[in-house]
Amino acid sequence: MDPTYEKEMPTNRIEELIDVLEKRHARTRAWIAKAQHRCIICQRPVTAFRSSRAELEYSLSSICQSCQDYYIYD
Ligand SMILES: [Zn+2]
Repeated sequence: MDPTYEKEMPTNRIEELIDVLEKRHARTRAWIAKAQHRCIICQRPVTAFRSSRAELEYSLSSICQSCQDYYIYD
Protein backbone atom coordinates (compact mmCIF):
# COMPACT_ATOMS: atom_id res chain seq x y z
CA MET A 1 0.00 0.00 0.00
CA ASP A 2 1.14 3.53 -0.68
CA PRO A 3 2.62 4.90 2.58
CA THR A 4 1.24 8.37 1.87
CA TYR A 5 -2.29 6.97 1.85
CA GLU A 6 -1.80 5.32 5.26
CA LYS A 7 -0.54 8.57 6.76
CA GLU A 8 -3.51 10.55 5.53
CA MET A 9 -6.16 8.33 7.10
CA PRO A 10 -5.96 9.51 10.74
CA THR A 11 -5.94 13.16 9.67
CA ASN A 12 -9.08 12.65 7.65
CA ARG A 13 -10.75 10.93 10.59
CA ILE A 14 -9.93 13.82 12.90
CA GLU A 15 -11.23 16.33 10.40
CA GLU A 16 -14.35 14.24 10.05
CA LEU A 17 -14.75 14.19 13.83
CA ILE A 18 -14.33 17.95 14.10
CA ASP A 19 -16.83 18.39 11.30
CA VAL A 20 -19.38 16.19 13.09
CA LEU A 21 -18.90 17.99 16.39
CA GLU A 22 -19.17 21.45 14.82
CA LYS A 23 -22.33 20.57 12.95
CA ARG A 24 -23.96 19.26 16.09
CA HIS A 25 -23.09 22.30 18.21
CA ALA A 26 -20.83 20.34 20.49
CA ARG A 27 -20.81 22.61 23.54
CA THR A 28 -24.58 22.81 23.90
CA ARG A 29 -25.11 19.14 23.16
CA ALA A 30 -22.30 17.82 25.33
CA TRP A 31 -24.04 18.28 28.66
CA ILE A 32 -27.41 17.18 27.28
CA ALA A 33 -25.84 13.99 25.95
CA LYS A 34 -24.09 13.38 29.25
CA ALA A 35 -27.20 14.00 31.32
CA GLN A 36 -29.11 11.49 29.19
CA HIS A 37 -26.18 9.06 28.99
CA ARG A 38 -26.12 9.34 25.24
CA CYS A 39 -23.38 9.73 22.70
CA ILE A 40 -22.88 13.19 21.26
CA ILE A 41 -22.18 11.79 17.79
CA CYS A 42 -24.49 8.81 17.19
CA GLN A 43 -27.09 9.80 19.83
CA ARG A 44 -27.38 6.19 20.99
CA PRO A 45 -27.66 5.42 24.70
CA VAL A 46 -24.26 4.74 26.21
CA THR A 47 -23.92 1.28 27.68
CA ALA A 48 -20.54 -0.20 28.54
CA PHE A 49 -16.97 0.88 28.09
CA ARG A 50 -14.08 -1.47 27.48
CA SER A 51 -11.70 0.41 29.74
CA SER A 52 -11.56 3.16 32.33
CA ARG A 53 -9.74 5.22 29.71
CA ALA A 54 -12.72 4.99 27.39
CA GLU A 55 -15.03 5.92 30.26
CA LEU A 56 -12.86 8.92 31.06
CA GLU A 57 -12.96 9.92 27.41
CA TYR A 58 -16.75 9.82 27.56
CA SER A 59 -16.78 12.00 30.66
CA LEU A 60 -14.74 14.57 28.74
CA SER A 61 -16.19 14.39 25.26
CA SER A 62 -19.52 12.51 25.52
CA ILE A 63 -18.37 10.14 22.79
CA CYS A 64 -19.43 6.49 23.15
CA GLN A 65 -17.21 3.45 22.89
CA SER A 66 -18.02 2.60 19.29
CA CYS A 67 -17.56 6.19 18.12
CA GLN A 68 -14.28 6.38 20.03
CA ASP A 69 -13.21 3.23 18.23
CA TYR A 70 -14.08 4.73 14.88
CA TYR A 71 -12.82 8.28 15.30
CA ILE A 72 -10.00 8.03 17.80
CA TYR A 73 -8.49 4.57 18.14
CA ASP A 74 -9.00 3.02 14.74
ZN1 LIG B 1 -21.52 7.11 19.50
